[in-house]
Amino acid sequence: MAHEIAIFPCLSDNYGVLLHDDATGTTAAIDAPEAEPILAALAGRGWVLSDILVTHHHKDHVQGIDGLRQRYPQARVSGPAAEAAKIGALDVRLGDNDAVSVGTLKGQVLSTPGHTAGHICYYFADAGLLFAGDTLFALGCGRVFETPLPVMWHSLARLRGLPPATKLYCGHEYTLNNGRFALGIEPNNAALQQRMQVVAALRAAGKPTVPSTLADELATNPFLRADDPGLQRAFNMTGAPPADVFAALRSAKDRA
Ligand code: ZN
Ligand code: FE
Repeated sequence: MAHEIAIFPCLSDNYGVLLHDDATGTTAAIDAPEAEPILAALAGRGWVLSDILVTHHHKDHVQGIDGLRQRYPQARVSGPAAEAAKIGALDVRLGDNDAVSVGTLKGQVLSTPGHTAGHICYYFADAGLLFAGDTLFALGCGRVFETPLPVMWHSLARLRGLPPATKLYCGHEYTLNNGRFALGIEPNNAALQQRMQVVAALRAAGKPTVPSTLADELATNPFLRADDPGLQRAFNMTGAPPADVFAALRSAKDRA
């Protein structure tokens, strides 16, 4: 069950993530934003790529697949069955609740439509890891491109139900910008104020703000708290249906 994780920047604001199983040496890349930094991270650690776990079809999550396979032709590419035609080159087509494994690390597929209609997250319960792609971000959530807004709320509510200690790995470094929007809505949220100091210091030092924990997000991320009375009060939507509050939040962020 012991594992190591490498996280490093790709493209302008994506993250490359490697999950390495100590027992077997099996190594998975979560998405493939850009081949070169992922290959460098593998080489630097002496890891051999065995799997690519794709969260959704957007170019900034799949365009590195070909380059990775040139170097590691045996690497198995798994991703959402619903987006197989758009992704191409999927060896394993995954649906909701399907089991995945990275060596001895056991994971589960969580279907989280919203950002894209077929978006999936990877949850490793024993290791306490959630790879959320562009569904849940630190202090934010993905833009909703392919479904009605309430569909995304239900996906986020599902992720919210995972254990609070779960570590959240997301696809982008958007935390500072997300946090500014969150503070605009809840200037008096003490946990959020505190977290933003930490986030600002990390970014000033050129360090990632990812991973966070679900506990951090539950206390500070407005998009997970559309049913929270304090958030609703701050947003002048007291008593409104959570899906409506979420939709208003997401629309306001889109305009920000
Ligand atoms: Zn995306
Ligand atoms: Fe993305």
